[in-house]
Amino acid sequence: MHEYAVTENILKIVIEQAAKADAKKVLAIRLTIGALSGFEQDCIQMYYEELSKDTIAAGAKLIVTKVEAQLHCRNCDTDFALTHTDYNCPTCGVAGVYNDDGRDFMIESIEIE
Ligand SMILES: [Zn+2]
Repeated sequence: MHEYAVTENILKIVIEQAAKADAKKVLAIRLTIGALSGFEQDCIQMYYEELSKDTIAAGAKLIVTKVEAQLHCRNCDTDFALTHTDYNCPTCGVAGVYNDDGRDFMIESIEIE
């Protein structure tokens, strides 16, 4: 259910941005979602349609990109993407720790009219 809160958050930001830009309508929203966040695109879409009714952002297209989680190796200071099976640093083989990226969501851009 945490998609609901996230979607409210996204919508709030989008409406603020659209108002600032003096937009008549929001056409599309580009989102990046971290693969680790567990957010389901379908849920966000569903909540979005419900929440955005009667707002300037109603009917906007959500374009969602999932990004792989990034790991960081504390041993040799390398950043690398998490593959399905491998948490180990490609350079030195030590297990990496999660970066903050890849856990949450980000609004990349908003198309307005
Ligand atoms: Zn390393």
